[in-house]
Amino acid sequence: MDTMFDVIVIGGGAAAASAVMTLKNRGKTVAAVCNRAETSSLYKAEWVTNYPGLPPMSGAELTALFRRQLEESGAKIITGRALSVMPMGTSFGVAVGSEYYMCTALILAAGITREKLYPGEGEYLGMGVSYCATCDGMLYRGKTVAVVGSGEEARHDADFLEGIGCRVLRFEQNGKYEIRGGIKADTLVFAGQEHKVDGIFIIKDTVSVTKLVPGLVYENGAVAVDRRMATSVPGVFAAGDCTGKPFQLAKAVGEGNVAALSAVDYIAGLKK
Ligand SMILES: Cc1cc2nc3c(=O)[nH]c(=O)nc-3n(C[C@H](O)[C@H](O)[C@H](O)COP(=O)(O)OP(=O)(O)OC[C@H]3O[C@@H](n4cnc5c(N)ncnc54)[C@H](O)[C@@H]3O)c2cc1C
Repeated sequence: MDTMFDVIVIGGGAAAASAVMTLKNRGKTVAAVCNRAETSSLYKAEWVTNYPGLPPMSGAELTALFRRQLEESGAKIITGRALSVMPMGTSFGVAVGSEYYMCTALILAAGITREKLYPGEGEYLGMGVSYCATCDGMLYRGKTVAVVGSGEEARHDADFLEGIGCRVLRFEQNGKYEIRGGIKADTLVFAGQEHKVDGIFIIKDTVSVTKLVPGLVYENGAVAVDRRMATSVPGVFAAGDCTGKPFQLAKAVGEGNVAALSAVDYIAGLKK
């Protein structure tokens, strides 16, 4: 399986589609890590009337058009959530579930995450809190774990953990949770009750970009970028809603294009 790419684009919305098409036009090898189309902000738009070149249509219809272009672009489509990005000198490793992919440049086009982190989630991530059962489950064999999440993926992950011998406490995503512990997380608090656990798996649709790439600078909750859409981490570019307001389709598409061209320049610069 091919796991090394010139560029990996994280996201499957408008900004990602624009970036991927430009990268393919420039002859780059590209992988796009795409969540389900229904997770895109655009999918929720009832009616879009301000996108040039297309008649008014629903956000769901427009999302389907972007997805088709993405799929027909020739890029490798990796369905799933990027869980973490690891800078490794002049390349990056991107974990998607238990798979691992490498690239020379990275474009973040992950939109905005409306879900807030639970208290304790950020502090204990990697220390008793995990986003991936198939990656970290084996560490908890024979132990008690909580799975917080709704939907197919959460059910699948809870079943997987039971299958490898964990005692699993299942919780729906829509609740107020708090994670407590010492050096490691050891307690999930829900509805005033403390549940003692060895590990906590949080299965959400998205991973906040603030937790995705170490060392990124943020301004007002958005990824800070310059006019080339370059972030504070060399080789990492960002586009679309994740770079901040205005949250508009045309801006996301334009930024995706600029980020792609900047990534192409960045890669050319490394070869000089
Ligand atoms: C109700 C509503 C109505 C709107 N109406 C309009 C309008 O009429 N006109 C207009 O111009 N704009 C409108 N917008 C805004 C527009 O939809 C957004 O600006 C646009 O979708 C941003 O594109 P994006 O690619 O940055 O993000 P998104 O379209 O949100 O796509 C980001 C994608 O990345 C995925 N993702 C996130 N994290 C990961 C990860 N770790 N791994 C893999 N994938 C990940 C997300 O799940 C999502 O699928 C509207 C928005 C909403 C919510």
